[in-house]
Amino acid sequence: MSFEKTFRTVIEPFIIKSIEPIRMTTRAEREKVLQKADYNLFKINSQDVLIDLLTDSGTGAMSSEQWAAIMRGDESYAGSQSFQRFEKSIKDIFGFKHIIPTHQGRAAERILFSVMCKNGDVVPNNIHFDTTRANVEFQGAVAEDLVIIEGHNTQSYFPFKGNMDVKKLKKLIQTVGRDKIPLCMLTITNNSGGGQPVSMENIKAVKNVLIEFDIPLYFDAARFAENAYFIKLREKEYASHSVKSIVQEMMSYADGCTMSAKKDGMVNIGGFLCTNDDLLAKQEKDLLILTEGFPTYGGLAGRDLDAIAVGLQEVLNEDYLRYRIAEAQYLGEHLAKIGYPIVQPPGGHAVYIDAKAMLPHLKPLEYPGQSLSVELYLAGGIRTVEIGSVMFGKVDQTTGEETPAEMELVRLALPRRTHTQSHIDYVIEVARDVFEKRQELTGYKITEQPRYLRHFTANFEPKK
Ligand SMILES: *Cc1c(COP(=O)(O)O)cnc(C)c1O
Repeated sequence: MSFEKTFRTVIEPFIIKSIEPIRMTTRAEREKVLQKADYNLFKINSQDVLIDLLTDSGTGAMSSEQWAAIMRGDESYAGSQSFQRFEKSIKDIFGFKHIIPTHQGRAAERILFSVMCKNGDVVPNNIHFDTTRANVEFQGAVAEDLVIIEGHNTQSYFPFKGNMDVKKLKKLIQTVGRDKIPLCMLTITNNSGGGQPVSMENIKAVKNVLIEFDIPLYFDAARFAENAYFIKLREKEYASHSVKSIVQEMMSYADGCTMSAKKDGMVNIGGFLCTNDDLLAKQEKDLLILTEGFPTYGGLAGRDLDAIAVGLQEVLNEDYLRYRIAEAQYLGEHLAKIGYPIVQPPGGHAVYIDAKAMLPHLKPLEYPGQSLSVELYLAGGIRTVEIGSVMFGKVDQTTGEETPAEMELVRLALPRRTHTQSHIDYVIEVARDVFEKRQELTGYKITEQPRYLRHFTANFEPKK
């Protein structure tokens, strides 16, 4: 036992060695910026943003050790030392037999599903991330979301809202037949369901069903370390385990994984694909050469592989994870105290505001999420992202009629190791101002839109 006094304040477990200035803007300037961008926050330049909470993907800060690793990068086309260090680091943590580098997570997905899926197959997941779903569907397969019912309830405090409904999984296998299910995925943490974790108990239960039918399990492992830390905090028998040993146990139940290193890889670009299957690995590497590159670099520079090798070890640091989870919790708790309806409990990487509940005077097709995210930018230069009918509303291509999304959310994603406590306090202060004026917020209409992925490029106009 240690008799050292422990303090409650969770501090950033790092100091700042290199800084990037942000430019202060006035409300009048931001008003002009918004008009020029047709009220689409994706069209705003970064120098016009004060606090950028658009995404946690590839936007984090690297450590001095990672920058040192960058200098060690070996740019040999084949068999580089960078690849050897990358492979060794991943094998140490994930334990899979074959490690295939890719330029992003979605490249790993495309290769995995190209090799494993065919037309008419079904791929279960807790909730498919949007690129995962798109890559499954691109093969003519069906992406089935089987998250537990609590995962759809924004106000449930269930500790593992990312869990898969094991009964539904079994029923699906029995209904469509084992031969139609080439693999089962689990997204850890469940990004599209609010960054909610999956418990070890659930991973084991899913694996047991899959063993019965001889179906392989793959993780979408983008936030594997955040998931493992939630297991440590919330699953009693793991309280005294190291996060690394929890990750190793999680991975021991899987046959492989896809990974976006832009998340818990702590880098700005990169990803990988893992498998224990020799034959699949061979087919995957053949495809890799076709579009990504030779199997010892996979579309990345040697220095990128080195930065990932270090980042994956750093993300397991429990002082880091404690601070990481505390940051989301701090922001979430303060927004909730102001009165914001948020998705509870906050996940690992973001806080989600329920704009439909906050702005009941706006109809879903007046895009309450868009209205709130535009207002947060106007009020304080904070960039967030609408995850509602702008992103997921469906437009009938013949009648032009539009069906709203199930939820109207605004996501505040937290880049890793990037903002200080006072940045977050500033966000909370701006949010308080916006909340007080919520009844004055107007709806939006879309004046121009492309056919696919309209949220990136659509033009908007505020309704008078
Ligand atoms: C980001 C992400 C992906 C896709 O990875 P990219 O590196 O952006 O291609 C896949 N799954 C999850 C859960 C993600 O968060």
